[in-house]
Amino acid sequence: MGTAPPVLVVSDLHLDQEPDSTLSEFLRFLDGPVRGASALYILGDLFDYWVGDDAGFAAAEQLADAISALSLPVTFQHGNRDFLLGNAYAERAGMKLAPEVLPVEFEIGDALLMHGDSLCTADTDYLRFRDAVRRPEWQQAFLARPLDERVAEAERLRGISRGAGQMKASDITDVHPDAVAEVLRRHDRSLLIHGHTHRPAIHHFQVDGRPCRRCVLPAWDRVPGYLAVDGHGLHLLTLDGRDYPVASGLPSSPA
Ligand code: MN
Repeated sequence: MGTAPPVLVVSDLHLDQEPDSTLSEFLRFLDGPVRGASALYILGDLFDYWVGDDAGFAAAEQLADAISALSLPVTFQHGNRDFLLGNAYAERAGMKLAPEVLPVEFEIGDALLMHGDSLCTADTDYLRFRDAVRRPEWQQAFLARPLDERVAEAERLRGISRGAGQMKASDITDVHPDAVAEVLRRHDRSLLIHGHTHRPAIHHFQVDGRPCRRCVLPAWDRVPGYLAVDGHGLHLLTLDGRDYPVASGLPSSPA
């Protein structure tokens, strides 16, 4: 009590081309908890893929209408699925596009926001792919192709990504402790909030003897949820405001 309205943070909704139950849940979230918040951050993979701001998919158009009607600031970071989301769509939705690493100041202190895929440094295949598709030349060539070809390519890449993810050991597809320590050190922060791994938790660890925390956001495929940050701390919650069921009884990774 007595603190400012919370800042809300979400990621990994993986919305489809067409409106589905996840979109409905997110629209209810915007009409519920978000109305009492001071800011909303979306840390990537809002969409399961993005083939260009001109695609006009029904789910994305509905969402742009809903987000642009909000009265609080909304900030979006790219995920590994929707890294092509551009200025035109962001403007239509009234969202600010943030860089890959976003330092923020919360009531409880400073934090860093990231999608998190670039922290999975043991996944060298993925990082090679990431380097390739983040090049402006690749993106310009891709966006210049006819829409049906772009969709076919996105579907193909999604299939490969899913298959590869299932084949890899879980520590390969998780963030690497060294990468986490490095980014916190570089930005002089002790709190990192990210998504991507779909392993919601709040981890406690140390970097150079300094106590640090890493909050991992839930994906919306099984139990949708979000992070609320207020003057009291970090609260991982389900959409009906209960504590998010994280696997707290299990040993957590070192970072
Ligand atoms: Mn991701």
